[in-house]
Amino acid sequence: MTEPARAAVLDAPTAVPEDSNPYQIALRQLGNVAGLLGIDEGVHQILRLPKRELTVNFPVKRDGGGTQMFTGYRVQHNTSRGPAKGGLRFHPDTDIDEVRALAMWMTWKCAIVNIPFGGAKGGVVCDPQTLSAGELEDLTRRYTTEISLVIGPDSDIPAPDVGTNGQVMAWLMDTYSMHAGHTVPAVVTGKPVSIGGSEGRIDATGLGVVLTTQEAFRRTNRALAGAKVVVQGFGNVGGATARLFGQRGAVMAGISDVAGGITNPQGLDIPAVIAHARRTGSVVGFPGSDPVSNEEILELPCDVLVPAALQNQITPANAGRIQAGMVVEGANGPTTPDADAILRDRGIVLLPDILANAGGVTVSYFEWVQDIQSFFWSAAQVNSRLARIMKSAFDNVWDTAQEHKVDLRTAAYMVGVARVAEATLTRGIYP
Ligand code: NAD
Repeated sequence: MTEPARAAVLDAPTAVPEDSNPYQIALRQLGNVAGLLGIDEGVHQILRLPKRELTVNFPVKRDGGGTQMFTGYRVQHNTSRGPAKGGLRFHPDTDIDEVRALAMWMTWKCAIVNIPFGGAKGGVVCDPQTLSAGELEDLTRRYTTEISLVIGPDSDIPAPDVGTNGQVMAWLMDTYSMHAGHTVPAVVTGKPVSIGGSEGRIDATGLGVVLTTQEAFRRTNRALAGAKVVVQGFGNVGGATARLFGQRGAVMAGISDVAGGITNPQGLDIPAVIAHARRTGSVVGFPGSDPVSNEEILELPCDVLVPAALQNQITPANAGRIQAGMVVEGANGPTTPDADAILRDRGIVLLPDILANAGGVTVSYFEWVQDIQSFFWSAAQVNSRLARIMKSAFDNVWDTAQEHKVDLRTAAYMVGVARVAEATLTRGIYP
């Protein structure tokens, strides 16, 4: 497929090699499936470009005196199926291409679980670890004000991602509400339950990872109990995933965070690891475990490997050494396309991000519905509705893979992209 002219609005690609630029990877993944699905070339070109991008530069007062400038982004990839939806990342390495890729992946993800949202993402280039609580609040409130032009309960609804949490979502909701003059809980999801958040949202992404793994095991006549699981990343997604696998009788053989990893082939007591990490700031040094590096953790022998940190972790450099029976992508974009091919050739089953980590946005959808209706559900209602949606999405993707004799990532893209392409064609091109 020939490379089309990029719209003038896009920056020149960043200097990183093409294969590790997330936006280039996302375009490559879309291109592969556009050909397979035979979608209209005009529609393919629409889907390649984000619908709307906003870059903001803004000052924040520092505690020590003076101000510092920060850069933030909000990208809406596609809104053919409903308002844009996607997380907000605070990370020193985020850039416009990462946010574009994450927004595009959100579009396919929402379509795969068949919820009425398009895809968006936001980011602020910052290291939250180096900001005081007051500075972080000021940064969040000023960024929210800057992007309030494009967000809203009917237009674009942010949520937590790397480096952000329920408190950040609370500040975002409060800032938007102060400008509106009344409380607007549905402008953001992942809020604390006390201000209109949903039961079950904190664990939702991890629960979705576990439920999709469970379905894959069921389809291959295996049980989670006794399966050896390794998780890279111990934040919102990795922490909940590890705990929930442990609760289902899996042996948690390894876990890591940015400071390093720990392993115990007999199994780690995850609630005790959580308590240790709270006390010390990291999983490293947990009594009774052996240390491993963040590279080694990915190569431990196990039944299930869950990368749940950042993108580009499984690459051609290490894909040949992965010793997992199955890779379940908790993070967005952890496996590059060339690594994908290596894993596939080695017979390693991969449950792709746009399916496996869709539990978070699904419960975010529930939260948005509850906020709009001002009528709240029990944790049991949330979790059973989540399970129903994840199973239906899994079955759809699995059956598509069988029918077309393709891997699960390709099948997931076929399901998601076809739905978005159909919505685009059905709505027609305005004017
Ligand atoms: P988080 O900030 O809560 O946690 C990130 C974790 O990764 C932390 O434990 C951090 O120490 C660790 N980490 C960072 N760099 C690392 C490295 N180089 N090696 C090993 N570990 C490292 O973020 P999160 O919300 O858990 O998100 C993790 C991934 O899951 C991201 O790719 C995110 O886009 C994706 N995701 C998040 C959600 C959600 O609901 N939060 C939903 C779907 C997908």
